[in-house]
Amino acid sequence: MSILVTGGAGYIGSHTCIELLNAGYEIVVVDNFYNSKRESLNRIAELSGKEFTFYECDIRDAEGMDKIFKKEKIDAVIHFAGLKAVGESCQKPIEYYDNNIGGTLTLCDVMRNNGCKKIVFSSSATVYGSNNVSPLKETMQTGGTTNPYGTTKYMIEIILSDIYKSDNEWSICLLRYFNPIGAHKSGRIGEDPNGIPNNLMPFITQVAIGKRECLSVFGNDYDTPDGTGVRDYIHVVDLALGHVKALGRALSGNTLDVYNLGTGTGYSVLDVVNAFEKASGVKVNYKIVDRRPGDIATCYSDPTKAFEELGWKAERGIEEMCEDSWRWQSQNPNGY
Ligand code: NAD
Ligand code: UDP
Repeated sequence: MSILVTGGAGYIGSHTCIELLNAGYEIVVVDNFYNSKRESLNRIAELSGKEFTFYECDIRDAEGMDKIFKKEKIDAVIHFAGLKAVGESCQKPIEYYDNNIGGTLTLCDVMRNNGCKKIVFSSSATVYGSNNVSPLKETMQTGGTTNPYGTTKYMIEIILSDIYKSDNEWSICLLRYFNPIGAHKSGRIGEDPNGIPNNLMPFITQVAIGKRECLSVFGNDYDTPDGTGVRDYIHVVDLALGHVKALGRALSGNTLDVYNLGTGTGYSVLDVVNAFEKASGVKVNYKIVDRRPGDIATCYSDPTKAFEELGWKAERGIEEMCEDSWRWQSQNPNGY
């Protein structure tokens, strides 16, 4: 059973590759290293003790992707490759629509031409927009996204659903991630952002290691218990294990499914800072600043459907997420 993993050198992809190899799947990884380093592939091999095939290829390169499908016998695809920075997407909408939507269309076309019609896709809680009230359920309305990144995820969900409607030989699983943090227990792989981190946890760990002065907490006047934003942080290894379950479902039938991958529990920014300080023993300097445009007060999942249909639930708590993020950061102060 051979699984193509697009974007497999990235943060979530690398953790998922390890869990796929541990589960006995053969994998073929495709990445263009736009936002990742080759070293992550060496570490996947080191941690899993297994070998796998890698191609440096852009998923928009139809000819290159077709050659890969012709050479390898691919049974299904887990599709992580994409651009993911919300702020950057507002500056570079053409690049985001081209890479995320263009890339997915090319990938699906090549898949169809080669008779591979099973795909698990990285969607996001952002598709719920700002009008739904947490806990968010898969049946709630999507859309009303507020930036090009979110809109690419929303549009790709529609595109994949239309592909399924046109030909139900496809098996499609849309996974809506909440906020992945943490790292592999070994401290050998983790999140390695370029430049100034946009997300909370890598910013916290960089303040803790002394690379940045002070965390800016974006607003303390939200309608939440302590006034700071509440999110559903999920350990990246739990998220990776959710993909193994989703893949099993995609391989076993011809369905269109959508699942939230979250814990169902919300933590505020200050909860995360406190949990991190406790786990690491390091004080995190922070100051309260204005709200970040586009942020909402509260976002967390109802993860019941994934439990009922996939038998998956997140097992790792906030302490473990913080400990593992810190181990990765302190053992790799400059990333890979
Ligand atoms: P990441 O940037 O670490 O990984 C994405 C990988 O895709 C990178 O290795 C990058 O080099 C590669 N890539 C990008 N464009 C490519 C292309 N055209 N061809 C080949 N490779 C390409 O990001 P991540 O955090 O691991 O996220 C993985 C997926 O999950 C993305 O689609 C992202 O939008 C989605 N997602 C992430 C989060 C999050 O908070 N990290 C939340 C929700 C959804
Ligand atoms: N946040 C913050 N300071 C930062 C980064 C994030 O206060 O430097 C807050 C942000 O306002 C939100 C939460 O942390 O309430 C999670 O933000 P992140 O960007 O990690 O994920 P998002 O939920 O926006 O996708």
